[in-house]
Amino acid sequence: MKILNALLAMTAVAAVSLMSGSAIAQTYPERTITMVVPFAAGGPTDTVARLVAESMSKDLGQQIVVENVGGAGGTLGAGRVAQADPDGYTVLLHHIGMATSATLYRKLAYDTLNSFEYVGLVTDVPMTIVARKDFEPSDLRGLVEYIKANKDSVTVANAGIGAASHLCGMMLMSAIQTQLTTVPYKGTGPAMTDLLGGQVDIMCDQTTNTTKQIQGGTIKAYAVTSPARLKVLPDVPTAVEGGLADFQVGIWHGIYAPKGTPADVTERLSKSLQVALKDQNVVARFAELGTEPSPDADATPAALKAKLETEIARWKPVIEAAGQYAD
Ligand code: ASP
Repeated sequence: MKILNALLAMTAVAAVSLMSGSAIAQTYPERTITMVVPFAAGGPTDTVARLVAESMSKDLGQQIVVENVGGAGGTLGAGRVAQADPDGYTVLLHHIGMATSATLYRKLAYDTLNSFEYVGLVTDVPMTIVARKDFEPSDLRGLVEYIKANKDSVTVANAGIGAASHLCGMMLMSAIQTQLTTVPYKGTGPAMTDLLGGQVDIMCDQTTNTTKQIQGGTIKAYAVTSPARLKVLPDVPTAVEGGLADFQVGIWHGIYAPKGTPADVTERLSKSLQVALKDQNVVARFAELGTEPSPDADATPAALKAKLETEIARWKPVIEAAGQYAD
């Protein structure tokens, strides 16, 4: 009898949770959603987030407001979302830094693999190696020689340890076996302002922030980090063409929610993300910025979870070999 009662009770609990699950999915979202971007406004992640958020808002029938929480290479913003209520009204749009920070930082205010739920992958953005407009070297080989000869004076901008610009800058320094002075910002939006103003010399940053400036001739471009040249920047060689063997990296972005966010809410957000990534305006703007939306199969919770796990494992030995950590 006891067993029967227990079984009946379990069935009742299961029925309630099923009901509450579908009830949430039917009414969600009922108010404004905050999308945290863990970098400064006006930068590459912010640009991607605002485009996607605008389109998802239309599909969801509620506004998604972007909030910039920059600092510490994206880890401050990620920490903010990890501690938010798991109700579907706070999400995080972050990039590859979510994976690299897991090893780069000795202490984080969250547990990368256990503090979040997953919505889906958004895009994979190539990087560009760029410099202030009047920087002397005219091509990548010239840049490498110049850096080696002037290592004490050349400055590299980045968005803090764990940022894509930091990762790519580290790859560059390691490829040419030279340490340079780095200048950290809360995002490469403000870093770009200083590059345009000539206050820093070089930067490795995503095409979503550099394409328009390169096309306008306001900064100099030495290379793209994609396997092939980009349609929007046909005159910029790949880093491999420019002499840096294996120098390829893509900056994948994903949307996360705090741990405990109901699965039907993350599923609803994922469906909305898939709609946004097929929105002609989003597709066209991404193309102008040198990137492409993720296909439906990648814009899912399972694909982002798998990507994060694989990327943590991929970067761990690389970072450990470099032996540079942040506290
Ligand atoms: N994604 C950062 C930003 O939006 C830059 C970076 O990661 O390097 O500013």
